[in-house]
Amino acid sequence: AAEEGFDLEDVEGAIEAAGHGPLPVLAVVGRPNVGKSTLVNRIIGRREAVVEDKPGVTRDRVTYEAEWAGRRFKVVDTGGWEQDVLGIDASVAAQAEYAIEAADAVVFVVDAKVGATDTDEAVVRLLRKAGKPVVLCANKVDGPSGEADAAYLWSLGLGEPYPVSALHGRGTGDMLDQVLEVLPEAPAQTFGTAVGGPRRIALIGRPNVGKSSLLNKVAGEERVVVNELAGTTRDPVDEMIELGGRTWKFVDTAGIRKRVHLQQGADYYASLRTAAAVEKAEVAVVLIDASESISVQDQRIVTMAVEAGRALVLAYNKWDTLDEERRYYLEREIETELGQVAWAPRVNVSARTGRHMEKLVPAIETALEGWETRVPTGRLNAFLGELVAAHPHPVRGGKQPRILFGTQAGTKPPRFVLFASGFIEAGYRRFIERRLREEFGFEGTPIHISVRVRE
Ligand code: GDP
Ligand code: GDP
Repeated sequence: AAEEGFDLEDVEGAIEAAGHGPLPVLAVVGRPNVGKSTLVNRIIGRREAVVEDKPGVTRDRVTYEAEWAGRRFKVVDTGGWEQDVLGIDASVAAQAEYAIEAADAVVFVVDAKVGATDTDEAVVRLLRKAGKPVVLCANKVDGPSGEADAAYLWSLGLGEPYPVSALHGRGTGDMLDQVLEVLPEAPAQTFGTAVGGPRRIALIGRPNVGKSSLLNKVAGEERVVVNELAGTTRDPVDEMIELGGRTWKFVDTAGIRKRVHLQQGADYYASLRTAAAVEKAEVAVVLIDASESISVQDQRIVTMAVEAGRALVLAYNKWDTLDEERRYYLEREIETELGQVAWAPRVNVSARTGRHMEKLVPAIETALEGWETRVPTGRLNAFLGELVAAHPHPVRGGKQPRILFGTQAGTKPPRFVLFASGFIEAGYRRFIERRLREEFGFEGTPIHISVRVRE
């Protein structure tokens, strides 16, 4: 490495940074209007105000990556959910419960100017039960005169209230230091620790694509209970199901089971649920209704799984209803709408007739295999050497940036670090990704490629 102009420390640092395992998850919960979104914006360093004043605004993005004091973690923003037909207590409780379930630590935001309300007390009970580490954020303490308000929140029994002004940034540093104190280094659901334990599947998709039907079909019995109220069930949310001679854990099946007809915020609620399921899973099976046009919502769900770095299987359901014409258009739609995940194994199923159910497990196994693939450094560099010789990077400004060497820094999903003599264009990166896939497979897995440029 040294003779190529990188010193060993740089190389090791880059590999370590790129090879990080799954990040721990921090959930920010609390009543509406206490300042959760404002705080999340501050934590993730978003400059512009994205706080929406309109109620019921759909926000599908709920998980963000953040960094504080050199540590990286994910933040789940629950601020987009408005009060709904369930009434405020139930909705706040359900929202908090879902977020807490997926989290490794929680920031509980209370409006210090208002003080603790009954709804706040209800959330405290949930937090106690969940047993996750909690940091109490006493928000809207915009100046020293508000500190006394914060002190009243000792009464919640959650330890020290951190006086914060999410709006102005006051006190957020101290609070985040405390967050890092209690946030575990790695998520509780650390991959691969339980050797031979069941693999974790998230069955996701927009409403009515057939998730509960499929779950019933594969579980072989009617397990799905409809019309349960969100947040009222206490039973385990994961379901063990035997398939293809192996036990699989379908995570977060409560999200499939519960049919809550919310007026406002229903899409957001579904997104939060999906994000929580994806966080807990190793592989996402995204169910798509093949009888209808592929929608933006389908694409968003696929993107969520890809961005979370999970293995991916696409299952096109309701195949029994397709005529020849629809099949023709479906193929065109898949190419245009989901072309970016052409690497994902695909099954055409019918939860109603049971068509191709037996193909689901092999597809999942293929995706997990791709997700865990590790390319030895020698092989990788032999491949990169040939690639660069045969297809050099275009010359830019009289210079030709070159990939000098590379290594796979991690798996689940595969992460590569490439070291280059100059800036590598996006088009060339995509070309390398394509060739990597052709050469080494990686079926069913996103792959990350980061490029380090020699100073
Ligand atoms: P959420 O519903 O909990 O996500 O709350 P928002 O982040 O949307 O904030 C609700 C309102 O409180 C907005 O008008 C914010 O500008 C305001 N707000 C948030 N944080 C603070 C703060 O630290 N001080 C003051 N004075 N207002 C704040
Ligand atoms: P979920 O909201 O994703 O859990 O979807 P459901 O499982 O509740 O299914 C929604 C509707 O689609 C129900 O009326 C199902 O009977 C129907 N459905 C589900 N799978 C299939 C299928 O493979 N073929 C047909 N024709 N209908 C299906």
